[in-house]
Amino acid sequence: MANILIWFRNDLRLHDQKCIYRAISAEPKYIIPFYCFDDRTYTQTSFGFPKTGKYRAKLIIESVTDLQKSLQKIGSNLVVKKGKTEEEISKIVEKYQITEVYFSKEATAEERAMEKKLTKILDKKQVKIKTFWQSTLYFPDDLPFSIKELPDLFTNFRKQVEKKAEVYNTFKTPSSLPPLPKNIDIGKIPTLSDLGLEEFTKDDRGVLTFMGGETEAIKRLQYYLWETDNISNYKKTRNGMLGGDYSSKFSPWLAQGCLSPRLIYTEIEKYEQERVKNDSTYWLIFELLWRDFFRFTCLKYGNSVFHKSGLQNIQIPWQENQNLFELWCQGKTGYPLIDANMRELKATGFMSNRGRQNVASFLTKNLGINWQMGAEWFESLLIDYDVCSNWGNWNYTAGVGNDARGFRYFNIPKQSKDYDYQGDYLRHWLPEIASIKGEKIHEPWKLSKEEQTQFKVQLGVTYPRPMVDFFKSVKHNEKVYLGATR
Ligand SMILES: Cc1cc2nc3c(=O)[nH]c(=O)nc-3n(C[C@H](O)[C@H](O)[C@H](O)COP(=O)(O)OP(=O)(O)OC[C@H]3O[C@@H](n4cnc5c(N)ncnc54)[C@H](O)[C@@H]3O)c2cc1C
Repeated sequence: MANILIWFRNDLRLHDQKCIYRAISAEPKYIIPFYCFDDRTYTQTSFGFPKTGKYRAKLIIESVTDLQKSLQKIGSNLVVKKGKTEEEISKIVEKYQITEVYFSKEATAEERAMEKKLTKILDKKQVKIKTFWQSTLYFPDDLPFSIKELPDLFTNFRKQVEKKAEVYNTFKTPSSLPPLPKNIDIGKIPTLSDLGLEEFTKDDRGVLTFMGGETEAIKRLQYYLWETDNISNYKKTRNGMLGGDYSSKFSPWLAQGCLSPRLIYTEIEKYEQERVKNDSTYWLIFELLWRDFFRFTCLKYGNSVFHKSGLQNIQIPWQENQNLFELWCQGKTGYPLIDANMRELKATGFMSNRGRQNVASFLTKNLGINWQMGAEWFESLLIDYDVCSNWGNWNYTAGVGNDARGFRYFNIPKQSKDYDYQGDYLRHWLPEIASIKGEKIHEPWKLSKEEQTQFKVQLGVTYPRPMVDFFKSVKHNEKVYLGATR
């Protein structure tokens, strides 16, 4: 009779959980659900930021706690260790005569390296390994092309997938699991300080008080679709920046696998049948396709998504000026839209999609700074950090990804007016300029001496002057870019 260990990774849920579903079907004596806080995930990035910052670490702790409780309710438990995953699994395998280990496959280098190390150890012990892909809406085997032939442009990918592929039904949530071996050491879920991070209280200026775990993820799904009908307006509101409702906020739960994209899809289909089907309900699925696209792109291109020259191998002479970079990180650039977004990220771990596109454009197209530094800053702070979505989007915005449009930049002052016309978002995050009335808040550098006195703002003292001239800096960096691509 088999004894199975399930290694939970970024799939912290019981619904639509292929590993569990398959493990139960094998009718083993034991199933040992296992999670490891791997020390390598809590080190530093190459530019010296915490690899998993406190916001995401807390969300992971909450997610693991929730999973453990859910497993207890169905007669099992979650064994939790801290250390090196392959070594911790190896100890359990020895002690409990595990015959098979199941886990979800990942797309990128560090995660796959861990899989390789584990495989090597388990092969020697003649333990069978079964791996499952379950992070995307569509499964790689069901795509109408091989990963090698994956289209480089999103639109081509989307059109073919929508026409020729199917999203499969979700796997059934288990109602019971075989018990664990008697006296097994369940271990202990670490605290933030066990992981070398500082404790903190969540900032109430944030868009949501994100709480990790499948239970909260499903509540959010219910809220966004059935309780508020927000989904039916998503296409109109999705470019917002302030508040909980302008977009789904599913991303932190999707990133940890607390929420399956296929559950979202199934619920949207149901919503479309029972309430309304429109552009907005479609558009959320459209965005999930971007998520799939970046994941498959990482499978296709391997490590080049992390290289400075990106997927297109463009050798741009990026700057690594620490002082300028620091002003961007701390939200002190003198451009209110950039500063508000960067401060939100630092205070809460979240930033809207509109914000992310603008700050990434400013870093690369105005400051000419190495986009990898920005990507690592995001990696450290984002509560919804997802390797493929983060590095894929950074490639795209830096102009080194598979985007045929070349040097594209965001006109920050215009974006500020277009997407925050009243300046409410800016006032929310920048108290030092909150008293500036009307549209003037978007361009404080244009305030006269009298206006500065009137609004109690002193440019260069209470709020910085722009760190670069907007159009001159764009022109300069365009020249650099064109020089590298010619
Ligand atoms: C520079 C940059 C870095 C980013 N880093 C990440 C990241 O680390 N993790 C992450 O989940 N998203 C990332 N995104 C994509 C996007 O900004 C977030 O997914 C979105 O803001 C999350 O909010 P939401 O769940 O309310 O999104 P919604 O607008 O409600 O979208 C629903 C879901 O669709 C997916 N999605 C939406 N837009 C994108 C996109 N451009 N790329 C990939 N998936 C998308 C997400 O899973 C999201 O949860 C990044 C975007 C940029 C420009």
